[in-house]
Amino acid sequence: AKKQGKNQYKLFDAALEERVQKAIYIEERLRQAILLKQFELYFQPKIDISSREVISLEALIRWNVNGHMIFPDEFIPIAEDKGLIGKITDCVLEMACETLSQWHGLAHLKNLSIAINISGKDISVDNFFEKLAGLLKRYKFEPSLLELELTESALISNLANVKDTLMHLKNLGIKVAIDDFGTGYSSLAYLQALDIHYLKIDRQFVAALLTEPKAEAIVQSIIDVGKNLGLGLIAEGVEQADHLARLDAMGCDQAQGYYICRPLPLSELIKFISGQRKC
Ligand code: C2E
Ligand code: CA
Ligand code: CA
Ligand code: CA
Repeated sequence: AKKQGKNQYKLFDAALEERVQKAIYIEERLRQAILLKQFELYFQPKIDISSREVISLEALIRWNVNGHMIFPDEFIPIAEDKGLIGKITDCVLEMACETLSQWHGLAHLKNLSIAINISGKDISVDNFFEKLAGLLKRYKFEPSLLELELTESALISNLANVKDTLMHLKNLGIKVAIDDFGTGYSSLAYLQALDIHYLKIDRQFVAALLTEPKAEAIVQSIIDVGKNLGLGLIAEGVEQADHLARLDAMGCDQAQGYYICRPLPLSELIKFISGQRKC
């Protein structure tokens, strides 16, 4: 038994060692990727549920290594850990603002918003809103077309600091959404304290909406709280026609998910919006 125990310990050790080595490897490659700007944005549409029109696109980062796509869940946590997230966010913000400024002169795209994901590490940096003010100066577009998605844990990790930052962002005209709402350390106190515009209902509640009465009650409660506070409600992870119909009946404003469209490269998504392709 002792021997087995020892072997098991070694096995665990080896697995841990492998994880550490992999993270070190990814960190080195990430530093290169940042220098070479090897990141791409995919975009997923959000529709207005009543009109069924695409009103906003969420930018989702992909790391392109020689044509092979690496998904954010694999490298964003490492980037946050190793202090590299700021540079990646700069890259994403730059691409998003450039795209918005290109649409500014185009009749059919000029009202489309772009939402980007912001890490808790980004928002805690002192000059975060100054960075955005700088981008708004450099690129010409309506600031309310830029939306930042933040998770609850990002918001409450440094509430006092974040409160100021969000007030500055509001003054700049930028919109802020709470992502994955209901899954973090939810507290209604921060809804009272912070300047935000949208709640994104987490896809775990949407997935269970039609089969679990508790999930339905949670979704309806989130919609009601949001509405009472004057916030816009966005449901993510909409995978079926019946999800969309139910969310419509429940008073949700916007929807996003595979049922509507998967994330696509921008050129493909623009074809989807203009009816030239299906999803
Ligand atoms: P998220 O912000 O919650 O983004 C939604 C994720 O759900 C995306 O995965 C999207 O492809 C996926 N998704 C969309 N519709 C559906 C659906 O109907 N069903 C299911 N099961 N999934 C759906 P993705 O692109 O792999 O991104 C994963 C996470 O990585 C994001 O979760 C976000 O937290 C983070 N992320 C993505 N891009 C960035 C970025 O530029 N910066 C930062 N800091 N984080 C990012
Ligand atoms: Ca998001
Ligand atoms: Ca989300
Ligand atoms: Ca998520």
